[in-house]
Amino acid sequence: MSIAYPILYIALMAFLPLVFSTARSMSREKLRDRVFMKTVGKDYLRTFPTVALVSLPLVAIPQFARGYVVALHLVFMWMVIMEIGHVWLFGARMGLNTFYSLFVTNMKETAEYIRNNQTKAQWALILAIYLAPLAALWFIRPVTFSPRWTRAAWGGALALVAIPLVRNFFKKGAKHKPSYVLNPFVSVFYHYVLYRRQYGALKRQIEAHAAPRFEGFASEIPGDVRETHVVCIGESSNAMHHSYHGYARRTNEFTDALGDVVSVRGVRSQYAQTLPSLEKTITFATDAEPGLLYSKGSVVDYFKDAGFKVFWLSNQYALEDTAITAMAGHADVRKCFNFSSMKGFETAGYDGTLLPEFKRTLEDPAPKKVVFLHMIGSHSAYVNRYPAEFSHFRGAAPGKEHLSSAATEMLNTYDDSIRYTDWVIAEFVKALKERGDTDAESLVYFSDHGEDCYDTTDGKILGHSQLANLPMTSVPLQVWVSPKLKSLRPAFVARLAKPKPEYRLEDMIHTMIDLSGRDNPDFVREKSVFGP
Ligand SMILES: [Zn+2]
Repeated sequence: MSIAYPILYIALMAFLPLVFSTARSMSREKLRDRVFMKTVGKDYLRTFPTVALVSLPLVAIPQFARGYVVALHLVFMWMVIMEIGHVWLFGARMGLNTFYSLFVTNMKETAEYIRNNQTKAQWALILAIYLAPLAALWFIRPVTFSPRWTRAAWGGALALVAIPLVRNFFKKGAKHKPSYVLNPFVSVFYHYVLYRRQYGALKRQIEAHAAPRFEGFASEIPGDVRETHVVCIGESSNAMHHSYHGYARRTNEFTDALGDVVSVRGVRSQYAQTLPSLEKTITFATDAEPGLLYSKGSVVDYFKDAGFKVFWLSNQYALEDTAITAMAGHADVRKCFNFSSMKGFETAGYDGTLLPEFKRTLEDPAPKKVVFLHMIGSHSAYVNRYPAEFSHFRGAAPGKEHLSSAATEMLNTYDDSIRYTDWVIAEFVKALKERGDTDAESLVYFSDHGEDCYDTTDGKILGHSQLANLPMTSVPLQVWVSPKLKSLRPAFVARLAKPKPEYRLEDMIHTMIDLSGRDNPDFVREKSVFGP
């Protein structure tokens, strides 16, 4: 029954990346639990149809079995190695973002990446791992089926298992089954089709966003002074869970310790979801004038037209928020650090991974820079938003002693994610400070919307929804301004001390412009949180 070996080998190719990624993405507690076995078992079962389909030719034309397995190995094993390498480096399986960078990255960039990240010895090792199974395959004797019925039974069994795959392929609007399509035999084709489709839609959106240039600029900062303005866009961070806002837990200890971060209360987003909120936040569009979303450029275009080199570094899913991605696409430099797959969105990298790239960006020789940092913040699952050493809050939160232990645990992880974001923001400010005080610099942090983490109803509401309530729309707003910038703009310093008691996030573009000391006919100072 030597047919079993090639089939077993094919089954193993689908199994390895799956078991490795599941093991890497789970916490130690879950690994010890039966959840791991159940998840792997369920996901692996879903790959069976593909495995069966790929195995069918072995039975149909057994005399070519060896050649077929060798071909399969050469075509697909590199993907298994890449998947495992990806999980090793980023903690998640390859997703659309990975393929997106793979498909759009040119060869020069790839070569540079290889030079920078791997030594020759490492590549030799990878090549050896890639080719070693071929040597083993050589010793498998050609497959023969003496009794005809054995062959028929194998073929029948494999065809039967493959039926759901064929059926699913023709099903219109079939429910997305990530683990089903993410096995090496389907993954690259599936993602290529998905990429072509989404990239096409994105390009159309970017083209539709060709608004006239912004003009008539004046600047409070002299042309010969170097400038860096940083905009940190957070995610699902409820201001009511910030200690600066009066929360009982010390979630802002890191920005507190800096001593010169201005924290603003009373800021509300109009929406509880990323897209509708950010569409207004980073453009001139408002609820009253939604058309400005496309008739005027975004804040990225604004700063570009004002003569800045604009960077957009994102730890958010790159292609999902298409309107935002289209606007970010206008930046001079755009990089995405969230390599999670669709299902593995839960296992995106921590926001701290933006830090090294941010520091490199600060060294960019351009004299006038604006850096956007789009963070994953407190997106659920909260527990996946911070490294283990930032697991900090234990037991019941003050005033929340009546919550169930599961809800208490959830609340603790949410507060941990808020505290970790505070650390990341403090690190960004520190990176600016470390460069001395020769440049005019500013940093602003706000969240796209809030989150109801057992704030209004006890244990009933968790997350953010269409029905936006106070916790879902209360957002943090923090600002840091360098001493050099302060010295150049004394009138602004006076305004900085008196933020508006109530502020709508849809006017945020005016605050960003205000911080940069720019003025033009599109800017309305009264709409800045530090106006008039
Ligand atoms: Zn959001």
